[in-house]
Amino acid sequence: MSDFELIDSHCHLIFENFEEDLEDVIQRLRSKGVKKLVHACCELSEIPKLKKISHKFNEIYYSVGLHPLEAKKWELSSKSLLRRSAQEDRRVVAIGELGLDFFKSENKTQQIDALIPQMELAYELKLPVIIHCRDAANQMIEICSDLSKKGKCPKGVLHCWTGTTEEMKQFLDLGFYISFSGIVTFSKAYEIQECAKIVPNDKYLIETDSPFLAPVPHRGKRNEPAFVENVANFMADLRSTELITIAKESSKNAEDLFKFDLII
Ligand SMILES: [Zn+2]
Repeated sequence: MSDFELIDSHCHLIFENFEEDLEDVIQRLRSKGVKKLVHACCELSEIPKLKKISHKFNEIYYSVGLHPLEAKKWELSSKSLLRRSAQEDRRVVAIGELGLDFFKSENKTQQIDALIPQMELAYELKLPVIIHCRDAANQMIEICSDLSKKGKCPKGVLHCWTGTTEEMKQFLDLGFYISFSGIVTFSKAYEIQECAKIVPNDKYLIETDSPFLAPVPHRGKRNEPAFVENVANFMADLRSTELITIAKESSKNAEDLFKFDLII
């Protein structure tokens, strides 16, 4: 048993590839000292499953929201459904994952139309947002800056960070946290490693984004929350510190952002 606490700030466990051995996966994360995890939501139809799994396993908290690659599923009623889901279950700790993904973007406008109301809702409910941002940092910064000028930008985290140090600084200035995934362990991820070296102690989280992007030395395999320890170890090397320091700092930051046990 580990003598420190790790928090996997972003993962997905309801995809089919965990159906067979979820109990084992939970046992393994417990054995690595993972005390809490945030299960991210990609589309609204996942919410009943997320609720069920989070009430079965004490470690699991979750977000509710619509991923930018699912933006076509945004409907007029989606905002009120998300509001209700967030309000009726206190294991909901964030809105998301939301954001912009312009990697293969035919539907930029649709993505923005799904993003803005979710940002507004998070601000209204005083919940943080989990931001997915791929090839769209400038647009995302612009949208957040506009909200910030109106005093209506929610708190949040850039999950699975893959931007430049310059972009990271702009997101930090907007008050966001930066979350590092298994990508930081990849040998050619120089830019992300540079970000991981300079991010302030009180502004970073760690995550697996399971089942994707397994860190070294599990690369190519299905990822699982127990592997957040590998991300933490790698961060410790990059920041010339000990695993226990990374565990303490990243867990405190996750607690500050998600306020897991606050009873509303
Ligand atoms: Zn995700």
